[in-house]
Amino acid sequence: MQFKRGPSSSEMMRVVMSVTTAVYVTIPVYAAAVLLYRRGVKVGADIATAYALAGVLLCLTVYDYRRTRRRRAEMNVPFALAQLLVGVAVVTFVNLGAGGAPGTYRILYLLPLVVVAVMGDLALIATVWTVSLACLGYVVFRQTGHQVDTTVWTMVIDGSAWGAVVVAVHLAAQRFLAGTATAEAVAELAGVADRVERWPEGLAPCMPLIARALDADRVFMFAGSPGATLGAIATHPQGAGVHPALATGAARALDGDRIVYAGELVFIPGRTASGLDVVIVIRQAARHHVRSEIAVTVSRLIVGIVDRASLIGSLRELAMTDPLTGLPNRRSMFESLDRLVAIAARNAEPFSVAMIDLDHFKDYNDRCGHQAGDQILRDLGAAFTAGIRHQDLVARYGGEEFCVLMPGTTVRGAATLLDHLRRQQSEGSVAVVSFSAGIAQWDGHETPDELLARADAALYRAKEHGRDRVETAA
Ligand code: GH3
Ligand code: MG
Ligand code: MG
Repeated sequence: MQFKRGPSSSEMMRVVMSVTTAVYVTIPVYAAAVLLYRRGVKVGADIATAYALAGVLLCLTVYDYRRTRRRRAEMNVPFALAQLLVGVAVVTFVNLGAGGAPGTYRILYLLPLVVVAVMGDLALIATVWTVSLACLGYVVFRQTGHQVDTTVWTMVIDGSAWGAVVVAVHLAAQRFLAGTATAEAVAELAGVADRVERWPEGLAPCMPLIARALDADRVFMFAGSPGATLGAIATHPQGAGVHPALATGAARALDGDRIVYAGELVFIPGRTASGLDVVIVIRQAARHHVRSEIAVTVSRLIVGIVDRASLIGSLRELAMTDPLTGLPNRRSMFESLDRLVAIAARNAEPFSVAMIDLDHFKDYNDRCGHQAGDQILRDLGAAFTAGIRHQDLVARYGGEEFCVLMPGTTVRGAATLLDHLRRQQSEGSVAVVSFSAGIAQWDGHETPDELLARADAALYRAKEHGRDRVETAA
């Protein structure tokens, strides 16, 4: 089972949010700087508007960030570079509008660096800061021998301090948001645990939650008996063949019962009470260690879900299967009957049923014993299963009675099939017990019970007319 985290919002939305982020960081700081360094300037309508606009954009961006739980890992470099350019453009325009950038608040040119610090990933932050410091270094180098412009030093010192503060605030905010997202995801996972009744299908809603809890952009999950789990990895489309680390990493994690890191893949092992192996494999674009207590909690939850779902699955199987023949039992047959009648009604297709009863089976039991009788029932069940079509269903209706459901089949087609089965049985090499059958085709209106009653009436006639024969209902 596999899950890939898609883009959290549309590309267009991301562009808009990136631009607004740059704007909201730039405008208020610029306005504050204007107020600070040009004390004489009146707080004009434009600055008030800028604050209001910035406030709205800030709310929008924070909202988007929280809603999509956007992470640095999802931030791509072209976007961050675009932000850098937008930041430069905004600062330049505003600066020109204010009449150039004399004096200390030329530091505003460092704003794009701050934007990158907030939004970019670590590699981008390092690159941009290196390039910027190199430019400043070049200015200092050019001025060597002369009096170095104090504005340059102010930019370097203030800018570095400012950038460091922003990065610290940014990381703290990310930690907080990531912690909240993790806690929410784990809590949701615990909530989902109670509702999953099937695996692996039922685990689908858990995959995005695991991704959120463990900050993964891709999640694979394998569960099964020990050998089968590794086998499933090997035959997975992106299994051992494509990703050699997958099988070895899973084996190491299961053997050592510990979290294993292999490149960008992280393997989290688990074992259910019933002895099934579970391996959660996550892929992180930004490789970092998952918090082990979160990984253990997630693993425990998933193991619990697998355990419970597989138990429910086997109980359901048990409740629906006849233990002697392994065929669906009467309860299961009635469920299928209701469903197939509904499908026939919707598609306006024919649908037929056959009731089968062994002839003089009591005598056979009396002569040969119940164990031989049981074997006859098992063999006949297997013969029916082998003889019917893929979409047909045969069930053990009662003691020595079987029922065949034949969707898309007219009474004629059903009679041909049943007669073939009957001859196979009574003319077979070990012809010991024959059977009689009654067939009815759904008339388009009657209830499933009425349909079965007509098939039963036809079976009764088959018995009356001498057994070892197939009768069809009117
Ligand atoms: P006919 O249907 O041809 O009228 O005769 P019959 O002898 O088959 O009819 P009846 O319904 O009276 O008997 C059914 C017998 O099927 C009774 C019982 O001995 C046998 N039977 C039912 N369930 C089982 C089972 O699970 N195992 C065995 N060995 N016999 C079973
Ligand atoms: Mg009977
Ligand atoms: Mg019978």
